[in-house]
Amino acid sequence: MPFSTLGLSPVLCTPLARLGYTRPTPVQSESIPIVLEGSDLLARAQTGTGKTAAFGLPMIDRLSVRGGRPSGSRRPRGLVLVPTRELAQQVHQSLQTYGAPANLRVTVIFGGVSIRPQFQALRRGTDIVVATPGRLIDHMQQRTIDLSGVEILVLDEADRMLDMGFMPDVKKIIQKCPEKRHTSLFSATIPPIIETIIQWAMKDPETVEI
Ligand code: AMP
Repeated sequence: MPFSTLGLSPVLCTPLARLGYTRPTPVQSESIPIVLEGSDLLARAQTGTGKTAAFGLPMIDRLSVRGGRPSGSRRPRGLVLVPTRELAQQVHQSLQTYGAPANLRVTVIFGGVSIRPQFQALRRGTDIVVATPGRLIDHMQQRTIDLSGVEILVLDEADRMLDMGFMPDVKKIIQKCPEKRHTSLFSATIPPIIETIIQWAMKDPETVEI
């Protein structure tokens, strides 16, 4: 089954062949139509299964500014929370690659580095933010980011994120996002703490198990 049958805009599918993506992986073929139709998604999938494109491609499709310019707004419309700086950098790079035809700005935010370049990047405006929870909270406290425009929220590697003690930060962040939004949660395991987040932050999610 080719990518074009999943409902994605052809402009996003064509460049995938150049990356060597001839057909979707199972997590992609199951998740992409769910996100495109606007349902919340709970995906049980390990790293290495192609999960970044599984949430990234439909997110970019839904937020894309066809023929327009990036918003230049300080209110991102897409937010991806990840547990570590390494994953933040990786997801950022992948979203930039997948989103190149869509004319969206993707900004990455993580701790352990100077916050100033991140202030500048946010000031220039951004459509999608990829962030680790701790540093995102710093930005919220400094009022350098406004989450009131988030339409699509992704919690990636949620079990790792909560294992690392980010539950209070994740809750604070979700509370600042609009209630009317689409939420996807990707996790290798679904322990009780993840069940709590699902109950609290998601609306009747469709489930994908890989
Ligand atoms: P991820 O699980 O998102 O970290 O992806 C794991 C690896 O699979 C990355 O190197 C991706 O570039 C690659 N990948 C993702 N989707 C596909 C696909 N449909 N076909 C081939 N490779 C892919």
